[in-house]
Amino acid sequence: MTRDPAIASGAERAAAHLAECHLCPFHCGPRRADASGVCRVGATSYVASEMLHMGEEEILRPAHAIFFSGCTATCTFCTAARFAFRPTYGVPVTAPQLARRILQRQAEGARSVCFIGGDPAPHIPLILATLEELGARRTIPAVFNSNFYLTDAALDLLDGAIDIYLPDLKFGPASGPNSCGERIGGMPDYWAVVTGCIDRVLDAGQTVLVRHLLMPGHFDCCTAPVLAWLAERPALTVSLLTQYLPPAHARGPLANTLADEEVAQAQRLARQLGLQLVR
Ligand code: SF4
Repeated sequence: MTRDPAIASGAERAAAHLAECHLCPFHCGPRRADASGVCRVGATSYVASEMLHMGEEEILRPAHAIFFSGCTATCTFCTAARFAFRPTYGVPVTAPQLARRILQRQAEGARSVCFIGGDPAPHIPLILATLEELGARRTIPAVFNSNFYLTDAALDLLDGAIDIYLPDLKFGPASGPNSCGERIGGMPDYWAVVTGCIDRVLDAGQTVLVRHLLMPGHFDCCTAPVLAWLAERPALTVSLLTQYLPPAHARGPLANTLADEEVAQAQRLARQLGLQLVR
């Protein structure tokens, strides 16, 4: 089997984070070893589900979507809470097992393999070990679909292993405990961290497709500044997500469904700003 030396080296370095984790800005360090870090992911990665997925953007589909359990964010409206906030939900997997399933999905017609969650950040050690295991047998691009609340250490590990980055840029630029990123998403310094990570992969010449979820009542604080920031980066393509569903426990604007006018307003602004939108 052909092994890419860069991926092999990344896989080895990534494994160190299973004992001392610095893959996201929570820097849980040794708490990773007994699964008591913020995301509560331990040494073993669990997959909640995997499938050939037709719901991804056209350039990716059909995608082999792999949904890992556990997340570094705690978005109050999360529709994947049953596995995003339960890191041992689903099936424990090893790199050889996951590699076999990726090859199977590739043979079935997958045009990409998408590592999703929850969030894939805590699972970078397994992802890199799996890509190393696959070697040249994988002929489809590897996609990292993440909240992008990452550290430089995580981006260093992914560099050379990931073909397409799919960051979710959800929340606007306000900072502090009342900002949307911290109050709703549970991620301190959200804007600085996530936009910094996006800029870093862009500057490295990577393929980047940014998703922005439209949230009811969040046009002024989130959608408008997010789209304006994206418009300053013409190398990006952008996907506007309109499938927001209010959970039963939601309060305030997030308890509403997205109004048609809110979708139209965002689409109008995206067109005015000249964003490259994909479906
Ligand atoms: S990935 Fe999980 S364990 Fe690692 S630093 Fe982030 S929250 Fe902590």
